[in-house]
Amino acid sequence: MKKTKRSPAPMKLYCNLFGHNYEVSKNVTSHVKEYTCKCCKKELTTNSDGDLTELTPKFREVNSILETMYVRRLERTREHVLTS
Ligand SMILES: [Zn+2]
Repeated sequence: MKKTKRSPAPMKLYCNLFGHNYEVSKNVTSHVKEYTCKCCKKELTTNSDGDLTELTPKFREVNSILETMYVRRLERTREHVLTS
């Protein structure tokens, strides 16, 4: 049996024909998520309007700031609950 070489091109074609197969790769906040296509590894994120947009380095940066703020706020809420 011949081993088929792995090439991303047919997968991209598949995505073009049938659409991407996104799954959540990261929960940034409760309403901002990052998605990765299982086929071609294209990445998307939720923008400030709640729409999906391509995950550019700029959005990655914004998301990491959002995530830090979100985690910090969660921790503060938890502390508040514990001390009150
Ligand atoms: Zn895809």
